[in-house]
Amino acid sequence: MKNLPYFCRGEVVRGFGRGSKELGILTANFTDSVVELLPGDISTGIYYGWACVDNGDIHKMVMSIGCNPYYNNAKKSMETHVIHTFKEDFYGQILSVVLVGYIRPERSYDSLGKNALIAAINHDIEEAKRKLDLPEHRKLKKDNFFIASASSSMTSSNKITKGH
Ligand code: ADP
Ligand code: MG
Repeated sequence: MKNLPYFCRGEVVRGFGRGSKELGILTANFTDSVVELLPGDISTGIYYGWACVDNGDIHKMVMSIGCNPYYNNAKKSMETHVIHTFKEDFYGQILSVVLVGYIRPERSYDSLGKNALIAAINHDIEEAKRKLDLPEHRKLKKDNFFIASASSSMTSSNKITKGH
């Protein structure tokens, strides 16, 4: 898919609490300024890739890019589920991600129902884990983007890097 890999970085803000706590799948929301930088023609749906919080370890992730129902779908949202168990929340911290591949289009809670949606997300997580073990995807984990995130002083809350 074009636009991939896509690198971005920004502050984690509060979302709407809809879905994730209810579904038991936490999703870290980016600030609007990060979402607004997405290429206009990027498809909505579920992506997989690598993520790190501040200068922590790099983990596998799945991300939903969707139209936000709280703004009559006029605004996109980017919600990242990091495939790792954290000891605490990381609101206000800097999340760095690279979107590596596309899994599927969005499916709504309303159309699927709770159990089917949880099953779909768990399926996405398994697919992400498998795909990210491929050598061509593993190498993005070593990208300078993540090294830079560890060494740069985060003076701005939404430094963005696109491409290499
Ligand atoms: P919100 O509606 O504020 O996004 P969520 O219920 O979706 O609330 O929880 C997301 C928050 O949980 C993130 O902003 C982050 O601080 C925290 N969190 C803890 N572990 C994870 C994880 N593995 N993946 C994503 N967010 C996590
Ligand atoms: Mg969330």
